[in-house]
Amino acid sequence: MIHFHILTLFPEMFTSPFAQGVLSRAQRNGIVKLSFYNIRDYGQGLHKSVDDYPYGGGRGMLMMYKPISLALNAVEFVIGDGVADHVILMSPQGKLLTQSIAQSLASSQNIVLISGRYEGIDNRVTENLVSNEISVGDYVVSGGELPSMVLIDAVSRCVPGVLGSDESAFDDSHSRGLLEYPQYTRPAMIDGHSVPDVLLSGNHAEIEQWRLGKALQRTREMRPDLLSEA
Ligand code: SAH
Repeated sequence: MIHFHILTLFPEMFTSPFAQGVLSRAQRNGIVKLSFYNIRDYGQGLHKSVDDYPYGGGRGMLMMYKPISLALNAVEFVIGDGVADHVILMSPQGKLLTQSIAQSLASSQNIVLISGRYEGIDNRVTENLVSNEISVGDYVVSGGELPSMVLIDAVSRCVPGVLGSDESAFDDSHSRGLLEYPQYTRPAMIDGHSVPDVLLSGNHAEIEQWRLGKALQRTREMRPDLLSEA
């Protein structure tokens, strides 16, 4: 079982995305577990503050160190003996999330995910409490919740038993360094658009050959950078 410990100011955001489909089934089957720690519960003072002004001036507010470190203590308590395999800060400054990173995280037992908000986080969190920073892309979104959800989904799909055998990830885009080949379903003709003949031929060797060719072609057209890496 893989257990995600999610530190966030907005735990409600996670409800619907994980209440259906593959991830919902994985939780029912006890393969994936999600626990939430509301950073607000560890806020400071009468107003349960979680953010403060940046030293040196500048726009916006920063998340404070203390509420996050207290929430991490709560995670340690829940884990009991042992420590989390990874304490990950979702950050646009992090390493780009790839299929191979998702694959390598999937063998963990406990992963902590910290979702930032506001202008960012006191850098002492990053320096002292976090083991990796991960980004979901070279753009900025308003908080770490959506990035955390992307990571949880991508990692969970790599955990054995999460996908059924008919949903195998083997052909998926990025799993072999290539994008997936194009696919078609019934009917064979719609609005004058037909399905490539080879797919109707029943010749499995030819179909495999065609699919590999298309996967290569598609990757060359859409993501030449992937080919040079592979
Ligand atoms: N001022 C910060 C961005 C803050 S956005 C900077 O320039 O680096 C607020 C929070 O959203 C971040 O702390 C982070 O947790 C999350 N976030 C924003 N974009 C992200 C991305 N591409 N990947 C992962 N997390 C992201």
